[in-house]
This record gives sequence, C-alpha cells and structure tokens, in this order.
Amino acid sequence: MTDTPIKDIAGIVQSTRDYHNTGVTKSYEWRVKQLKAVSRMMSENVAEWEKALDADLKQNTFLKTTEVVSTITEVDNAISNLKSWMKPKIQPNLTVMNMPGTAMIHKEPYGTVLIISPFNYPISLLTKPLVGALAAGNCAIVKPSELSENVSATFARLIPRYLDTNAVKVILGAIPESTELLKHHFDYILYTGSPVVGKVVMKAAAEHLTPVTLELGGKSPCIVDKDVNMEVAAKRIAWGKFLNLGQTCVAPDYIFVHKQVKAQLIQKLKENVKTFYGNDPKTSNDYSRIISQRHAERLIKLLEGCESKIAMGGDGDANNKYISPTIVDEPNLESKLMREEIFGPILPIMSYDDLDQVIKFINDRPKPLALYLFSSNGKLSDKLINETSSGAVIVNDVVVHNTVSTLPFGGVGNSGMGAYNGEFTFDTFTHQKTVLLKPTWIDPFARYPPYDSNKIAI
Ligand code: NAD
Repeated sequence: MTDTPIKDIAGIVQSTRDYHNTGVTKSYEWRVKQLKAVSRMMSENVAEWEKALDADLKQNTFLKTTEVVSTITEVDNAISNLKSWMKPKIQPNLTVMNMPGTAMIHKEPYGTVLIISPFNYPISLLTKPLVGALAAGNCAIVKPSELSENVSATFARLIPRYLDTNAVKVILGAIPESTELLKHHFDYILYTGSPVVGKVVMKAAAEHLTPVTLELGGKSPCIVDKDVNMEVAAKRIAWGKFLNLGQTCVAPDYIFVHKQVKAQLIQKLKENVKTFYGNDPKTSNDYSRIISQRHAERLIKLLEGCESKIAMGGDGDANNKYISPTIVDEPNLESKLMREEIFGPILPIMSYDDLDQVIKFINDRPKPLALYLFSSNGKLSDKLINETSSGAVIVNDVVVHNTVSTLPFGGVGNSGMGAYNGEFTFDTFTHQKTVLLKPTWIDPFARYPPYDSNKIAI
C-alpha cells in the first residue's frame, strides 16, 4: 500500500477538524457505535491481522492472540463504563461567594487528536489509544509505523470499512509524513516510541500549545535478590525478555542479581530458554524476528567487544532478522550495551552485594519505564518503591502490569509523560471543563465596592 501523499495531509487534517466541529462525535450513541465497530474490525478479521503480524514480526500464537484480544477487552471495558465515564462530576461547592451554585466538571472531547504508534505491538499500541480517543468523543488521525508495514496496511484497509471515515483517518508513511502531520494543529497528541523522537514530537506540539502524552522507552532494570523463588523468577524473566525478541518497551533491559545466586539464575535462564524455544531457537515457531535488518545489525553491533562475556547465545543473522536469546555476563557498565536501550533479545547480567549501590546506579540514570524486583523480602520492595522513580514497580513478575486496566500505564522523565489504559485513556483524551452554574435570584452584596468595615469578609 502506498504512503499518504504529503500534499494531501493538510486537507485531511482540516476536514477532520471541520467534522469534529459539527458536534456529531460527541453523542453517546456515536461513540458506542464506533467502539463496537473497532471490536468487529478485530474479531471479523482475525486471520488477516494474524497474517500481517506474521509477516512483520513472525509473532507467535500467544502474541498474536494477545494483540487482537487486548483490543477487544479494551473496547468491552469502554462500552461497559462509558456512561459513567462521560457523566459530569458534581463537585462540592465550598466557597461562600459561589453559594448558591452548582460546581461541576464537564467531560469534553479535546477535538481532533493525533496518535503515532511504533512497530513492536503494532495493533494494540494503536488501537488502545484509539479506543480511548473515540470513547471520549474525539476525531482521530492515526499514523502507524512504517516498519510494521503489513499491519499498517491492514489498518489503512480496514479502518475506512468499519469506522466513521469522516472522523478516523489513517496516514501511512515514515518521517516525512509524520513531519508534515506535526506541522498542523491537533488538540491532543499521543505518541508512542523512542525518547529521541518524543522530543521531536513535543517540540512540534509546542508550536500549537498542543498537550501531549509521550509513551517512551529506555532501560528497565530488573533486580534479583538472594531471597527469591528462583524457579519462578528465571521462568518469568526468560519469558518477558525473549517474548517478541525483547522488542517490548517494558522488557527487562538488564539484570542486577545478588552475587550469591548469579550462577543459579544464569543456569535457570538457560534451561528455560531451551524449554521455551528448543536447542535451536531459529527453528522455533514461538521465536519471533527482529523488525528489520537494520535493527538486527544494530543489535549485532551492540555485542561487539562482549564476545568473551557471552554466557548464552550471541548468534546473529541480520539477513534473516534473527538474533539468538543472548546473555552477557558482567558487561562493562560504560559499554553501549549498558548505555542504550537494547530492545532486542540480549540480556546483560551484573552481580551486586549491596542493594544501595544498585539503587544509586538506577537513580543516577534516566528514569525507567518499569522497575522489576524478584524477592520474597517485603522490606526490599518497600525500599525500592520509596527510593527510586520509574513508570511502574512490579514485584516478582515482568511485563504483565499493562494488562491491569485499573492501573495507569506510562513513564516518567525520560520514559515519558502522561499515562493511559482503561479509564485513564478516556481521561487522557478528555478536557475536564470547569462549569459553575449560578442563579440570579440572590446576589450577595459583599463583593461589590465600595468596601467598608461593615461588609462581611468572603
Ligand atoms: P520510533 O520512535 O522510531 O517510531 C515510532 C513512530 O514515530 C513511528 O510511527 C515512526 O514513523 C514515527 N517517527 C519516527 N521518526 C520520527 C520523526 N523524526 N518525526 C516524527 N515521527 C517519527 O520507535 P520504534 O522504533 O517504532 O519503537 C521503539 C521505541 O518505542 C522504543 O524506544 C520503545 O521502548 C518505545 N516504545 C514505548 C512504548 C510505551 O508504551 N512506552 C511502547 C512501545 C515502544
């Protein structure tokens, strides 16, 4: 499918804005109709979505199912709760000057919003924000990633077939198309991708004073204490790291393990990788592929200089977009591997004996999207929660927190700003407008001049 002509983008944005101004998208009925259409767009085309995921990332059955089902779950949740989410919220009116009067928060759609999504979970990272944007009564222009080209083409084919074509538009393309889009005025932008591009988006948004949510990446640390259920810890870490070949924004990027249990952890990780993907992961149906040859080459370069420290894997075949599950034992902390977000199936493991040193290491670096701790010691989790800053802290698991729709999903500092998931997505795309309703049958005189000491203070 061809990219959207750049010369058409201004007109697409303007016509979408004009449509929002008609007010059609504000009604409960319109919103529910669109949400149901998103659900049908997924459920009636499962084979097509799965084929696209296969072609882009060779995703396994678990990942493919999750991509489709998580969207449907998000829609179901939005439909079930939409009436209560939309309801104006009456607030207590505490000021004497405004009595009598009714204070409330009116939930207003921002207008026309832009959603830019990355390649790694190419369906859900576009549809989950879209569900919230539509539930909140917005029009949306979506720009999926050019790297996951098959999924992006599927969006371009199916969205016009299911959704209100005046309200939801797909822009296909890469940097030139995004750059053109970002020149225009949107009422809100939700961007998911790398911190480098997040800065570009925020600068462009500033020109129009457009509010943004930035869902970014970075290095998410994972700490393994000596007081740990190693069977479960190693299994969950191996699963969360090598799932989608490490191309998961909240994948554990690196591990700090207590020196007493490092050998045991490495041994158990190896065993689990073998159980999950067999002796040769390249032939496993459950082992995905790197999105592009360029990214595979980037990962192979990350391993340069680490050859003597490879404790597992280390094989790369950029032509086939393959990198084996790899463990690097005690890499140099100044190496590229430990400075850049890995976003691939390479797991650096370092040992520690003083948790305060690990906390200092984490606090000296950009704030992570997720921070993981495996420990049976409740005091350690309290310490980590209180002494570090990250988008999330998860104890004794990895990656799964974004499936809890009652929790906001987002980063802090370099890993992002704002959050979404369930009702938080609705709130993200909703302007909370202050409304104060006052009668005129009474008009207390105290606020009007002339003021003298006989007037009551308000
Ligand atoms: P990316 O930043 O390269 O691209 C993401 C999107 O931005 C794509 O649609 C791309 O076309 C567009 N884009 C790229 N360069 C641009 C530019 N100069 N101007 C405007 N738009 C531009 O990210 P990616 O490689 O697709 O994804 C990987 C990154 O995304 C990692 O850093 C990962 O951690 C992060 N990520 C974060 C989350 C999250 O929820 N926080 C989820 C997934 C991925």
